[in-house]
Amino acid sequence: MGNRFHVKDRFADGAQYIDGQLRSGTSATSHTVVDPATGENVLTCRLASAEDVDAAVVAAARAFPGWSGATPAERSDALHRLAAVLTEEAEDFAYAESLQCGKPLKLSTEFDVPGTIDNTAFFAGAARHLQGQAAAEYSGDHTSYVRREAIGVVGSIAPWNYPLQMAAWKILPAIAAGNTVVLKPAELTPLTSLMFAQAATRAGIPDGVVNIVTGAGREAGEHLVGHPGVAMTSFTGSTPVGRRVAEIATTTVKRLHLELGGKAPFVVFDDADLEAAAQGAVAGSLINTGQDCTAATRAYVQRPLYDAFVARVAELMGTVRLGNPFDAGTDLGPLVSHAQRDRVAGFVERARAYATVVTGGTVPGGDLADGAYYAPTLIAGAAQDSEVVQSEIFGPVLVALPFDTDDEGIALANDTPYGLAASAWTRDVYRAGRATREIKAGCVWVNDHIPIISEMPHGGYKASGFGKDMSAYSFEEYTQVKHVMYDNTGAAAKDWHRTVFGDRT
Ligand code: NAD
Repeated sequence: MGNRFHVKDRFADGAQYIDGQLRSGTSATSHTVVDPATGENVLTCRLASAEDVDAAVVAAARAFPGWSGATPAERSDALHRLAAVLTEEAEDFAYAESLQCGKPLKLSTEFDVPGTIDNTAFFAGAARHLQGQAAAEYSGDHTSYVRREAIGVVGSIAPWNYPLQMAAWKILPAIAAGNTVVLKPAELTPLTSLMFAQAATRAGIPDGVVNIVTGAGREAGEHLVGHPGVAMTSFTGSTPVGRRVAEIATTTVKRLHLELGGKAPFVVFDDADLEAAAQGAVAGSLINTGQDCTAATRAYVQRPLYDAFVARVAELMGTVRLGNPFDAGTDLGPLVSHAQRDRVAGFVERARAYATVVTGGTVPGGDLADGAYYAPTLIAGAAQDSEVVQSEIFGPVLVALPFDTDDEGIALANDTPYGLAASAWTRDVYRAGRATREIKAGCVWVNDHIPIISEMPHGGYKASGFGKDMSAYSFEEYTQVKHVMYDNTGAAAKDWHRTVFGDRT
């Protein structure tokens, strides 16, 4: 059981965190954070206006010279302290994350929170290891070296599916490299982003380095992206909103990092361990109630295994226990909102016209009737070009399709606009090697699907975006590289000047 602190008391001063202080937003619009398991009001808060975003950007700009001028060791120490504060408050974070998202407490406790603490500890170390090319006399007459510099104020926008982890993925590499941040969480789920910023203050990270503006996408989000005081936009969310963000960011020539939607294929070759693939498909498609950008969504199964795979996945889905996120026996919580549940149900209802709903496709009643629940769902017999195969559903829905040759399986896996993640299931090392080379995705797992680690990059190909979260690769997004070149000759008339004037040799 999580530590049930009083959310309304904790955020009585408001849901904006600017310059080290909680304060109320000044937009004309309020938003109510709802517990999707019950429909109950968790917190009603005034959203951020454009002026609130301006105040956050001013605070971040003011903090930048000091923070970017701190030594790597000082930033590293601060992040180590942040990891310690997060560890102390782990139960509070797990409780708040489950409350606002509807995640089973076991998921928040064993995945979201420890993943965030590990990420913080990773970036505490990485802050002291910014890398570049060795300084050398590449021209013969000069010494060249590279400075890796912080960019400035980073404006970040995050989605609601993993609010704590997404805030951490956006904030940690940015501040480890010396930037300051204004993050806009999704208005559905601001609690743990605000708590993360409070933890940063408790850890001694200076005011203004981490600011949170809880606001609507159209108002606060667009203002943040277009803000002339923001040097970089880092966005995680859907591909359509990402396109809009890219349009606005280009008007001020901002550096841009886009982590967008996914539609991950799960390719099962005919030599695979069927039981491992079936279990992997159920866990990989239902994690976080399917609201995971890397979730397994399209299971392509080679014909000899197809029928058995469909039967076993349906059987296993039937064993998954829906329930209140805070009950120890709950495997699957509700979706994040009733609107998201209805959107998911809409995909399944439309699919009944052209495919078979093998299991699920129902809204549970009884004790769960007030929550945004949806039964684990397996769809078979859909065409490759159909909506459920091509579009991101973002719910507990897996589609299974057969294939015959390896060429066909890989081609189908690549046949959507997305390219975030994929998995290949086989015991043949050559098949695995081919799948990992030929599937166009930022991550390809072999005989597993979902695990992530702080040391390795996460990011998309194709319409899933560009740039990397986590790992040392993320410093490529959050730093700019400057070439510094010193003349070593001391000569007034340098040899190369002859290309412009005179005949020097
Ligand atoms: P969304 O695109 O609707 O919203 C994401 C964020 O953008 C929210 O904070 C929202 O308020 C804001 N926003 C909305 N309109 C905006 C606008 N016009 N200008 C600026 N900001 C705006 O996404 P969502 O529904 O919150 O989250 C689900 C999506 O996120 C899925 O598509 C999922 O695949 C994606 N996602 C991707 C990754 C990844 O790493 N690639 C990770 C998690 C989620």
